[in-house]
Amino acid sequence: MSNTPTVLDRTENKELTRGRRAKRVWFAILACVAVLALVASATFAVNFYLNLQEQQRLLNGQADSLAALQQTLNEQSEQIASQQEQLDAQESKLAEQESKIAEQESVIQQQQDTINKQKDTIKNQESTIDSLRPTEVVKGVATYPDIDVTRLKGKKLVALTFDDGPSTYTSKLLDALKKRGAKATFFVVGSRANSYASLIKRMEAEGHVVGNHSQNHKNLNYLSAAGVAAEMGDSAERIKSIIGHYPYIMRCPGGNYNQTVKNYAKAANMPIIQWSVDTADWKYRSKASVLSYAKRGIKDGSIVLMHDLYSTTVDAAIELIDYLQDQGYTLVTVPELLAAKCGTVEMGKVYFHG
Ligand SMILES: [Zn+2]
Repeated sequence: MSNTPTVLDRTENKELTRGRRAKRVWFAILACVAVLALVASATFAVNFYLNLQEQQRLLNGQADSLAALQQTLNEQSEQIASQQEQLDAQESKLAEQESKIAEQESVIQQQQDTINKQKDTIKNQESTIDSLRPTEVVKGVATYPDIDVTRLKGKKLVALTFDDGPSTYTSKLLDALKKRGAKATFFVVGSRANSYASLIKRMEAEGHVVGNHSQNHKNLNYLSAAGVAAEMGDSAERIKSIIGHYPYIMRCPGGNYNQTVKNYAKAANMPIIQWSVDTADWKYRSKASVLSYAKRGIKDGSIVLMHDLYSTTVDAAIELIDYLQDQGYTLVTVPELLAAKCGTVEMGKVYFHG
């Protein structure tokens, strides 16, 4: 047996060697592929892990933001709840106050109703009293005088009239009139007459005229015929007891008259005297204002309305008399003015000027 390799052996060896190489190559390739696959897997895994972490971080951030938002929302909802409570409390207070006001209103309404009922009762009683008065009797029927106006013909005349008095200022006015030779007319209120009897007597004695301005200064339009007769008649009696005769002119309180009042005046034989110049002295209580109204309004034949209740009026009247006399006016009583300017005076008629 020989140890020399045969051709077959060599060929076999070669094939064996080629086979081993091929195996190694395949093994190497497989190994490479495996390594590559491992690397790729690892890279993928790392990337995947990193991505996951990033997303986790983002999610955490969003969760934080959501938590903060939730916190803010909670706070706001707490604030809203507390404001709602305050509003509720205020609403309940308002409701309480409204109910109190409603209660008070109802009390006031009840009181108003009571007052109205009492007013109605008083009205009824007044009308009962009125209806019980005798209707036909007219007290204080005056004798209207004949006045000689020869000395007044063709002259500029004005009649100053003073209502609602007398008062503590009236004597100063009477002194001033006397000193200047001026005459005036005083429409006195019966209820004041007794307290100022000496002044009323002096008016008559010094050539002034005392007129009737009612007993209690009531609005005559609200009275029945008997009521008017009583209100004017009582005052007429009072004046007569002081000056010796009934007053023969009348002025209605507030200048208010109606047909009933005119009927009374006619029956009592008096004209009703209104005015053509209102000095608004009771309203402004100012000497300057009285003078301004008077100077603007007065002309020949004027009847001027004033009230001797105010010192401002008396002071204004004194200055006015000087002014009018400077202007050539003669200051006369109302009956003198009517006689000179109108001639015959009609009883029950209303006169505003001469
Ligand atoms: Zn009056």
